[in-house]
Amino acid sequence: MNENMLDADSRERYLRHILLKEVGAQGQHKLRAARVLIVGAGGLGGPILQYLAAAGVGALGVIDDDSVALSNLQRQTIFTTKDIGEAKVARAAAFANALNPGVRVIAQKEKLTAENAADHLAEFDIIVEGVDNFDARFALNTACIKARKPLVSAAIGRFEGHLSVFKPWAGAGLPCYRCLVPEAPPRDEQVNCAEEGVLGPLAGVIGSMAALETLKEILSIGDTLAGRLFVYDGLGAAARCVKLPRDPECADCSAIERDGSG
Ligand SMILES: [Zn+2]
Repeated sequence: MNENMLDADSRERYLRHILLKEVGAQGQHKLRAARVLIVGAGGLGGPILQYLAAAGVGALGVIDDDSVALSNLQRQTIFTTKDIGEAKVARAAAFANALNPGVRVIAQKEKLTAENAADHLAEFDIIVEGVDNFDARFALNTACIKARKPLVSAAIGRFEGHLSVFKPWAGAGLPCYRCLVPEAPPRDEQVNCAEEGVLGPLAGVIGSMAALETLKEILSIGDTLAGRLFVYDGLGAAARCVKLPRDPECADCSAIERDGSG
């Protein structure tokens, strides 16, 4: 496949991708054919959507039940002051459509739950989440394992960011989210950025990295974060990767069939 298979506008729009031998016109076709569900249209969902739409990912689902609030604007940079009170998914879709009309955005103003997760995942290949609660993460973990769809998982709080990719079926030693977090902590011990605060640009750093990992999964390039947790310390200006072991007793992934393990 060569770059002539893209029309002139696409060749120009995606020129900096096409120049990369790891991407090229063939990779750009893969991006156009990809369908990614973004769960959460907040601080992380914004840059995730922004970079996946800019990259030409053909179909982008966005699910979030929230509306834009004044206190969001310190870090949720796809929204503006005049968006206050509007549904986040509606403003996110308008942003993505204006950035790249070639991308189809499927916006759903709804809360993702254990009951509806499988349905929401059905028409997508890869799921990327930047949600702020354990219930949604566990629901996504269970549904993604069942459907064998990679889950790119991002979180931020205060000055620190976390990022990983979960696809436990893809290798004998690979963990799922529940291997890392077996159970939600008691409600009164749960903290999130609404309560503990977060320095705004951290959302851009970790959200952009989540978009990068999503593109790597689509393109099958580079070293996956599956099996590793990327930890970014914003105050220390330092980053590290921690190996994530599989929990052989894990309630979600201990019984699944794994590629390459016979
Ligand atoms: Zn597990």
